[in-house]
Amino acid sequence: MTKFKAVTPKKIMMGKLSFGCDLLEELTKVATESGIRLGRIEAIGAVQKARIGFYNQKTRKYQFHLFDQPQEIVKLAGNISMKDGKPFVHAHITLANKSGKSCGGHLAEGTIVFACEFILEAFEGPEFSRCLDEETGLSLWSL
Ligand code: ZN
Repeated sequence: MTKFKAVTPKKIMMGKLSFGCDLLEELTKVATESGIRLGRIEAIGAVQKARIGFYNQKTRKYQFHLFDQPQEIVKLAGNISMKDGKPFVHAHITLANKSGKSCGGHLAEGTIVFACEFILEAFEGPEFSRCLDEETGLSLWSL
């Protein structure tokens, strides 16, 4: 069943991540240090290398692809909610290589920033916390 709740914009932050940091870890750090429990995130830039997940719906496990090459971040889109009592960033990313070919998927740790500009919007509202969803095997919002 589809479920949703209203949230209210609270504040927007813009910034750039440091060269050589781990993209997912650093976004999580920004959210944690800013006390953001609910929000959305977008970013553009470039990575030195990437690690992207694909959720295999049959095995219910992530398969990870490693791209050990510079690529553009065409678009990163994600959200921030709570998991195990801590802010958790869930983001998907589309990348483009030097030929302009794209790949993308679930952003995983191991994606290293070359340059990255992000916009993070914090919301006020009810807590969105993640727990195991039996139907998919994923950690989804329990609303
Ligand atoms: Zn995902």
